[in-house]
Amino acid sequence: MSMAGNERIKIITGDITALDADAIVNAANSSLQGGGGVDGAIHRAAGPELKAYCKTIGTCPTGEARITPGFKLRARHVIHTVGPVWHGGEKNETALLASCYRESLQLAASAGCRTVAFPAISTGAFRFPADKAARIAWATITDFLRTHPQPETVYLVFFEENARSIFERAVKDEF
Ligand code: ADP
Repeated sequence: MSMAGNERIKIITGDITALDADAIVNAANSSLQGGGGVDGAIHRAAGPELKAYCKTIGTCPTGEARITPGFKLRARHVIHTVGPVWHGGEKNETALLASCYRESLQLAASAGCRTVAFPAISTGAFRFPADKAARIAWATITDFLRTHPQPETVYLVFFEENARSIFERAVKDEF
C-alpha cells in the first residue's frame, strides 16, 4: 500500500453538499434525475438547472459516471456515479462499486480537479455492507492515486460519526 496514496485521502464527517471541493461525487441512480439520500440533497442544493442538464445526458449504467457543472453548489462539478444495489454479493457488486470510484476519479482528473469528495456510494438505500464497501473504496482510490498526480486530494465524506467509524475500522490495517 502506497503511503503517498494514503496521505492524499482525508476522511471527514459532514454534509457533502456544503463542501468547497472542485468536484463532489453523487451516489446517483441511473435516471440521473435525482432521488433520496445524498442524491436528493445534491439536487436540492444545486438547484433545478442540475436536473435539466442531466436530462440532456440521458441515463447512466451501473458502474459508470458522468460529469456536470455544480450550478448553485460551491463545488465546480458534480460527478454522478451509479453504484450497484447489493444483492448478496453474487451479482458483480464488488467490481461495479470499484468501477464507480475509478470512473469518477478518471473524470475528475480529466476535468483538472485538484480536490474531489466522495460519499459512501451504495451504502444507503442500495444496502451494500459498509465494511465491504469501505475496503473496496480504499483499495480502488489508493490504486488510482498511486499512478495519477490528480486529483491531489480525495475527501471521503461520512454523514454520521457511526458510518465514519465503521469505515475507519474496516480499513485500519491499510493505514
Ligand atoms: P445509495 O443509493 O448509493 O446507497 P444513499 O444516498 O442512500 O446512496 O446513501 C449513500 C451514503 O450517503 C449513506 O451512507 C448516507 O448516509 C450518505 N449521505 C446521505 N446524505 C448525505 C450528505 N448530504 N452528505 C454526505 N453523505 C450523505
